[in-house]
Amino acid sequence: MASKTLEGIKSIENFQIEDKRLFLRLDLNVPLDESGRITDDTRILAAMPTIRYAIDKGAKIILASHFGRPKGKPGDREKYSLEPVAAYLNDALKKEIILVEEPAANATKQLLSGLKPSQIIMLENLRFDPGEEKNDREFAQKLAAFTDIYINDAFGASHRAHASIVALPELVEKHGLGFLMRKEIEMLDRVRLNPEAPFVAVLGGAKVSDKIEVIEVLMDKVDTLIIGGAMAYTFLAAQNISTGKSLVEKDKVRFAGELLERAKARKKKLLLPVDHKITRDIKDTASLTITENAAIPEGWMGVDIGPKTIALYAQELARAKTVFWNGPMGVFETPEFAEGTFAVAQLITESSAITVVGGGDSAAAAHASGLADKFSHISTGGGASLEFLQGEALPGIGALKPIKRSDKEMLIESTGEVIEEPKRQ
Ligand code: AMP
Repeated sequence: MASKTLEGIKSIENFQIEDKRLFLRLDLNVPLDESGRITDDTRILAAMPTIRYAIDKGAKIILASHFGRPKGKPGDREKYSLEPVAAYLNDALKKEIILVEEPAANATKQLLSGLKPSQIIMLENLRFDPGEEKNDREFAQKLAAFTDIYINDAFGASHRAHASIVALPELVEKHGLGFLMRKEIEMLDRVRLNPEAPFVAVLGGAKVSDKIEVIEVLMDKVDTLIIGGAMAYTFLAAQNISTGKSLVEKDKVRFAGELLERAKARKKKLLLPVDHKITRDIKDTASLTITENAAIPEGWMGVDIGPKTIALYAQELARAKTVFWNGPMGVFETPEFAEGTFAVAQLITESSAITVVGGGDSAAAAHASGLADKFSHISTGGGASLEFLQGEALPGIGALKPIKRSDKEMLIESTGEVIEEPKRQ
């Protein structure tokens, strides 16, 4: 489906990539356990179609990604190395992946000149170079020096104006997006621009404050806003319903009250839990009890939504035609407190709606529910998907628009080299 956001942006299929040095900016930032094993390979799997396409077409492939947040401390190079990801791809693709320690060094260019079609090198964590997070043009120029075609398939990093996301495509004339990026944009645009009604947004998670902007934007678009997770208690507090020792953001109670008023004025349904699972302590599963109604007694805390709430939310989800889900309904990491989150996952996937899951913890919850393949789309980007929905132009997408070159605009770089200054259309 054509998406407005994609207008004017080329895709990997628009380029002749055979025998060309193809820079693939991916989001291979996967979680590891203490022994360095990958615990969730979702992001790598999501990048596979683009990698495989590049292999099939005979490109000389340069894989690039960030990995965690190295701060330049001793030991960081080992802790944040892309080595486990390179080893994973080695096995999965049955191809040798050469890991390049110093991406910006001249040696990379030389190494690439010896590379054959369909061979792959992987650059070490881009954030090892301070220039990456500074969107440094000089660092980008070093990467551009060995790049014929630039492809961004790193949706999860495209809300960051970093060198490999913004400065680099501005320097490489042949640039475009990969298959994952296209799917992310198309699916999130379906929610953002023309959602089929009834549109139900399910928001949960820990904090109202993290999601203020997205709640405000969604309020205009949805027919029903379903709220669960710890976020709900701040809304209950705004209605003077007792919340015991549940997580409440006191400084957001007024905002929650205003939202409730706004929803009423606009005739939007805003549903809150009508019962809860509560415990005496977040680590105490033995005292788990279900409340009669929305009130939580003194000394108790809410950890999940209750059965009456699930039934209430089920009615709305059954008739939905578009569903956006971000944030778990409870402390789903603890199995005893996961029932509400998994029930909502099941209800969403049973509906006939287009179902889109925002990244981060919601993606983890969708996978943990065992229903991941039943959603229309699970975004690989947490922050990126929320910023995209809020209508913010993601820097990484803006940088893929065509470059308009003008003869008048010539710049003499500090190197003494005369280059044209690229201009956005
Ligand atoms: P977020 O990143 O804002 O989507 O929040 C996800 C986190 O919210 C998860 O780690 C959940 O454990 C947590 N969470 C959800 N419901 C509750 C609750 N009732 N009390 C405490 N934490 C919660």
